[in-house]
Amino acid sequence: MSSDPDSPESADALLERLRTEPHRRHNPLINEWILVSAGRTHRPWQGRRETAPTDPLPTFDPSCYLCPGNVRANGERNPDYAETFVFTNDFSALRPDTPTDRMVDGLLRAEGEAGACRVLCFDRRHDLTLAGMPVTAVRRVVDVWADQTSELAAMYPWVQVFENRGQIMGASNPHPHGQIWAGTALPREAAKEDETQRRHHEATGRRLLLDYADQEADGPRVVEANHDWLVLVPFWAAWPYETLLVARHPASRLPDLNDGRRDSLAAILIRLLARYDNLFGLSFPYSMGWHQAPSGGADDYWQLHAHFLPPLLRASVRKFMVGYELLAETQRDLTAEQAAEDLRAASAVGVAVGRSLDGRAGAGEVAAS
Ligand SMILES: [Zn+2]
Ligand SMILES: [Zn+2]
Repeated sequence: MSSDPDSPESADALLERLRTEPHRRHNPLINEWILVSAGRTHRPWQGRRETAPTDPLPTFDPSCYLCPGNVRANGERNPDYAETFVFTNDFSALRPDTPTDRMVDGLLRAEGEAGACRVLCFDRRHDLTLAGMPVTAVRRVVDVWADQTSELAAMYPWVQVFENRGQIMGASNPHPHGQIWAGTALPREAAKEDETQRRHHEATGRRLLLDYADQEADGPRVVEANHDWLVLVPFWAAWPYETLLVARHPASRLPDLNDGRRDSLAAILIRLLARYDNLFGLSFPYSMGWHQAPSGGADDYWQLHAHFLPPLLRASVRKFMVGYELLAETQRDLTAEQAAEDLRAASAVGVAVGRSLDGRAGAGEVAAS
């Protein structure tokens, strides 16, 4: 680690001093800064507290749009699927037949966006989560993610695989499921990461996130590691317990992964999600998603990775991105190093049950999404 050339201090010593003082950190993946104000987590909290219903979920819910054999909002009946099930979202935000016309009128620009929105049920059982599923079942989910990516990447430049888990993340249906959206344009976050990774590759001949993974390996921000994957709280994390899951060998998309790397991915996913659930002893809400190289061009600059963006700061206190975050820049109270230490201290085995921030509302995400 090299430090500021104008300063005689080492980078580690500088960071140690900065850690207890308000400071900014740079996110090279999107070329943006965040403000870190360590110590503010001790301030008294009188705002909203998330509640934790204690009802255990049934293995099958007759009112769930995602359970096998049930009728969805558009009248279609789900098959009696045995493992995973993919279907086109009944209320898709993107449709394949949309014309991609462009409109420019002075400062006003618009363009049609064609695409697809699919829902992926991870398991037939209503009460499971990825963290509680056997490794073979999570491996099946990895395979479906990869297969869906291949299929949609043949038609669209951007394929977004993601999961919203927990009612406070907008998933009011607790049935284990994720989504896959594909579109014609590079969305905002993809465009930022495309630019930075291209530039780094042009300048160095290497992939930005492989360099980052090498720099962080065995360091204070690592949460989980195996031969193929690294999970860390990124130096520039915005959400309190945000993590980044990076492939440690060159890979641009999920379909690039061989059997061994898919198995080790399933294993590390379960360990990470168990740590999240065990951190506060509840079913941890999050948005997660894969960032894969856009299709249709060179892809050797882009390193496959996933972001986990959980909102909770404490068991019943969520971080809101408001005020300064919306108007100036993202601010966090907990250092990335402290968050990584907390996650390492939580068990990576076994899932806390009995407490959940998920409600059991019947009108599920599928009806709304
Ligand atoms: Zn269900
Ligand atoms: Zn990314």
